[in-house]
Amino acid sequence: ATDNESSSPSTNKATETSLSPDSIINLDQGDPTLFEPYWKKMGDKCTLVIGGCDLMSYFSDISNICWFLQPQLGDAIKGLHRVVGNAVTDGRHIVVGTGSTQLLMAALYALSSPSAGHPVSLVAAAPYYSGYKDQAEFLRSGLYKWEGDAHTFDKDGPYIEVVTSPNNPDGTIREAVVNLGEGKLVYDLAYYWPQYTPITHPLDHDTMLFTFSKCTGHAGSRIGWALVKDEEVARKMTEYMQISSIGVSKESQLRAAKILGVLSEGCQHFRTADSENFFQYSHRIMRERWESLQNVVENSKIFSLPKFPQDYCNFTGKYTDSNPAFAWLHSKEDIDWESLLREHKIIGRSGERFGADPKYVRISMFSPPETFNLFLERLSAIIDNTNGNV
Ligand code: PMP
Repeated sequence: ATDNESSSPSTNKATETSLSPDSIINLDQGDPTLFEPYWKKMGDKCTLVIGGCDLMSYFSDISNICWFLQPQLGDAIKGLHRVVGNAVTDGRHIVVGTGSTQLLMAALYALSSPSAGHPVSLVAAAPYYSGYKDQAEFLRSGLYKWEGDAHTFDKDGPYIEVVTSPNNPDGTIREAVVNLGEGKLVYDLAYYWPQYTPITHPLDHDTMLFTFSKCTGHAGSRIGWALVKDEEVARKMTEYMQISSIGVSKESQLRAAKILGVLSEGCQHFRTADSENFFQYSHRIMRERWESLQNVVENSKIFSLPKFPQDYCNFTGKYTDSNPAFAWLHSKEDIDWESLLREHKIIGRSGERFGADPKYVRISMFSPPETFNLFLERLSAIIDNTNGNV
């Protein structure tokens, strides 16, 4: 089975209202529906009407390397990065994908060398996002080979390192760890947005992946984008998309363009408006969740959460906290976290799936409010029990 964020449909839909004490709580996936109330409040501002005769062509702009990118989406992406200050877009090619999931595959294709005769090694520092391994191994490609943890990688020859920053599952800010001559880097920046982490500077790497899913919460539109410095890499990524899906849904692209435009506009009135812009709202929601989780875990003698230093955020003009999309819980005793939580009808994802120890578990911070509150109640009870046994 695949192991991405949507591998099994959630039992906790965003609209869910009634949970019983016996309900199973699924905190395995990172389904970002908790931002729904903000977009609901936006009313018709983000509504788009698409006529029956619109968007029928495969093509969007044949003068662009990525010929299926709708120009409105390209403009909205550049506009948003300019407002947030998280990535350089000047002189970059934009390649749009069906989520950043498809773009990672496109980047692996573009950065491998079919003529080399042997697969390029693919690595990521543990704990790494479990989806990379699954994606790399699924079709048994001869172009690349998953080699696991970048910390222990010592093979000669070409390699690709995926650098996830902030990292899924543990929220840390990362740099490349292998640093050998023949390496190529792909930066997965799905969570480099102000609600999750301070925006310290605009990143300027050769190949950077972003996703609409985690930026605004619209995972269902399946839109991601790559900012690519090298023209040949952009061309090969586009070729991958052409062969695998002949482009990306134009309806989705236009909806993403509209929503990203509304988001950017809201941020420009940032310091004067009395209503919250999206990043203020989502940061507040994430912060509240982290504070309540930290308050519960603080009482434990054996469980802990990672600590994140505050940093200056250029976007907000303040020192801010990190509020990762996932909590990476650790037990200093020999406890298999995933099994312990399962006994209490909580589904998390074991550290083992991320190349780490079962003494770690990843918990999604994105669940609907009722689910999150019930999780805190159950976790408190687990902590009371385990404290008694220490
Ligand atoms: N990269 C990371 C680090 C992720 O956490 C996810 C989704 N959970 C993705 C990529 C893929 O996101 P999508 O395909 O929705 O753009």
